[in-house]
Amino acid sequence: MKVAKFGGSSVADATMLRKVADIITSDSERKFIVVSAPGKRNKADIKVTDLFIELGERFYQKDNIDSVRQQILDRFGDILQDLELSTELLAEINSGIEDALHNERYARNRIDALKAMGEDTLAKILSAFLQKEGHSASYVNPKEAGIIVSDDPSNAQVLEESYEQLYKLRSRDGILIIPGFFGFTRNGELNTFPRGGSDITGSIVAAGVKASLYENFTDVDSVYCVNPTIVDNPKEITVLTYKEMRELSYAGFSVFHDEALIPAFKARIPVCVKNTNNPTKPGTMIVSEREKKEGTVIGIASSKGFLSLYVSKYLMNREIGFGKNLLQILVDEGISFEHAPSGIDDMSVIIREGQLSPEKEDMIINRIYKELEVDTVTIHRDLAMIMLVGEGMNSTYGVASKATSAFEKSKVNIEMINQGSSEVSMMFGIKAEGMDEAVRSLYKEFFN
Ligand code: ASP
Repeated sequence: MKVAKFGGSSVADATMLRKVADIITSDSERKFIVVSAPGKRNKADIKVTDLFIELGERFYQKDNIDSVRQQILDRFGDILQDLELSTELLAEINSGIEDALHNERYARNRIDALKAMGEDTLAKILSAFLQKEGHSASYVNPKEAGIIVSDDPSNAQVLEESYEQLYKLRSRDGILIIPGFFGFTRNGELNTFPRGGSDITGSIVAAGVKASLYENFTDVDSVYCVNPTIVDNPKEITVLTYKEMRELSYAGFSVFHDEALIPAFKARIPVCVKNTNNPTKPGTMIVSEREKKEGTVIGIASSKGFLSLYVSKYLMNREIGFGKNLLQILVDEGISFEHAPSGIDDMSVIIREGQLSPEKEDMIINRIYKELEVDTVTIHRDLAMIMLVGEGMNSTYGVASKATSAFEKSKVNIEMINQGSSEVSMMFGIKAEGMDEAVRSLYKEFFN
């Protein structure tokens, strides 16, 4: 039995939904279907989830919500009409919106209740369409499916007990359509996962029903070894491991939500990324282990928006607790760090730029000087991280030398290198302005 998840672009309109229905019914093993809310139909379009969020925000600001509400109804109305389904569901959406906005039961999670309606409605539509086409299909609410989550509105985490519940779904007949993106707390309150969370639902369902495969349908033929907006027509990756995928998505690959693979990974369920517009293409498999044949470096990820906090103090290496004390200051200020490369007398802490306002920056610098009695503290903004990813890379000769020569050719100075602790990646910190050039040069070195 397979789980197939269809992302926002795959369910953006009736044409796409017909493709989805064909994909589902062309393989009898595709039994558990998880759907997103309708995404963008074109670049200028707005995702239905964003419309629901706007509606909620307008409501809180006491602005008029009529036009956004109408946009939502039009999106679903068009889909229903084009699929020749009854438009009764529109009245349900309308009363759902009223309920989410005014019912006391949603006092803590109104936005969640609104956001969830995008996937919930779409799941109902898809199930009605499959039924109309003569297939045995049913909509299954996440509560009924047993997706139990922590009480964290908009940031829910799945609870372990869900998996046992989900397993029971195997005995149900027909194709089951489950809306992604949300679950219910033990007290029955609706909470959504973070944005992009339908991937999380897909992965949870795959783990729960012990699927043979988790297919993630999106709008690309496969995962590419480098960002296709930086390198034209980059190579497709056929197989990569969970670890590699995690490293890649950390540093800018937006194929998956970071957390999404964890449940599938723990249950060792293979994942396949496929294109709804091109479903006969094999796509990219994500597995626990791969043969190393494919080359040592499997992908190059890159991401901007980092800064480095550089601290130096003579004889730092002999001072017990220095690292801990430095990081404690960050803990006190509620800042998380990404990497911490160090030398004998200095240490850099890499932080996502958005976390450090100018006021926080001053406060942290002052505290470090005062409490740690250091020689220098400096902050360098506008950094980018480039990661070379590939299992077994560290046991191969010459990867670093090839990489540094690629940086040299692109005339980009390496500010920092981090390897070692991770067996699957090598990280380079550079000035953000040189990122694209460096990535293209690395691509030439490793893939051409
Ligand atoms: N619809 C939600 C979002 O846009 C969840 C998802 O599509 O995965 O974030």
